[in-house]
Amino acid sequence: MRLSLYLLSGILLTIITISCSSPKNTLSGSSDKDSRPAYADEMSIVDYDPISTLVVPEHKVTKAKFPFVDVHNHQWRMATQDLGDMAQEMDALNMAVLVNLSGGSGDELKAAVTNIRNQAPGRFIVFANIDFDGIDEPDWTKRTVSQLEQDYNNGARGLKIYKNLGLTITDSEGRRVHVDDPRLDPIWEKCGELDIPVLIHTGEPAAFWEPVDKHNERWLEMKQFPERHRDPKRYPSWEKVMSEQWNVFRKHPSTTFINAHLGWMGNDLARLGKLLDTFPNVYTEIAAVLAELGRQPRFAKKFFIEYQDRIMFGKDTWYPDEYHVYFRVLETKDEYFDYYRKRHAFWKMYGLGLPDDVLKKLYYKNALKVIPGIDPSHFPVE
Ligand SMILES: [Zn+2]
Repeated sequence: MRLSLYLLSGILLTIITISCSSPKNTLSGSSDKDSRPAYADEMSIVDYDPISTLVVPEHKVTKAKFPFVDVHNHQWRMATQDLGDMAQEMDALNMAVLVNLSGGSGDELKAAVTNIRNQAPGRFIVFANIDFDGIDEPDWTKRTVSQLEQDYNNGARGLKIYKNLGLTITDSEGRRVHVDDPRLDPIWEKCGELDIPVLIHTGEPAAFWEPVDKHNERWLEMKQFPERHRDPKRYPSWEKVMSEQWNVFRKHPSTTFINAHLGWMGNDLARLGKLLDTFPNVYTEIAAVLAELGRQPRFAKKFFIEYQDRIMFGKDTWYPDEYHVYFRVLETKDEYFDYYRKRHAFWKMYGLGLPDDVLKKLYYKNALKVIPGIDPSHFPVE
């Protein structure tokens, strides 16, 4: 009985295989559609979500091994939000200090600093932002530098530059403002003078410039957010916009820069290493690029050891559970586990298992060195 069932299913399978694999035999001819394999109609790659059967040791981490500073975060209502609640959520992760890069400027920034002092002193640092509107007005630079100075006096402890600089910001004539525009030089110089870092996000993953096809690693992201594709007719190339950023690093050696998101070179750490070798005034951080590290645990670990004085912890979006995956990638040697956002990674994570002295630098020591105003009493004394 069993044998005949096997035979029957074997015959059925053969029939299915033959009918599926012989599209040329159909009456509709041999168009492109017909030459597609039959399984193309069965399931989208987006739906494919296999549950791993691999059984290996697991070490889920919900709290960082050492207190840490998140140097790349965005809180948009800091002037009014309940920071006591937020601090409790931070405690659960062992996050000692959160750097809010979206401090704005003027009254907004001042109100945020006041709210911090009242509700959760020492737990938050605020970076200022600048307004590029009117960049071609003759007094724009002077006005902007003096606003930045005022924001510093009101408690800002860094400047954050968003990716719109170099990609979408234009002057009144519609011309793209380059990252290395000389009108911005006095701003970078002022940050050096005030001894505050500039956290600068320039560009995007290089895959956003590539054709949106089956070979593109970020295909899903561009399907979900078509505007993220950088059409070469409308945008400067990846190399062009990044080289403008590197010109700024070169031109302002006494200003400290934190190159956000591993400078979009998380997929080419050797190249990032060369950049760090070339510019001693440049640091970097790992916000939103964890998936790059988790797919190359051995090389990434080597990189983190070699550049242990130059990398900081960042996350970007505030979803407390997602930090757990950061901790697991950085701290454990776990194998083949899930990342949390499919559009960033069609692959699994592997832990780097960083040594404690490297973790401490990543988690807080480098931030203490680079960002003024962080209360050192949060961290272990050695
Ligand atoms: Zn960000």
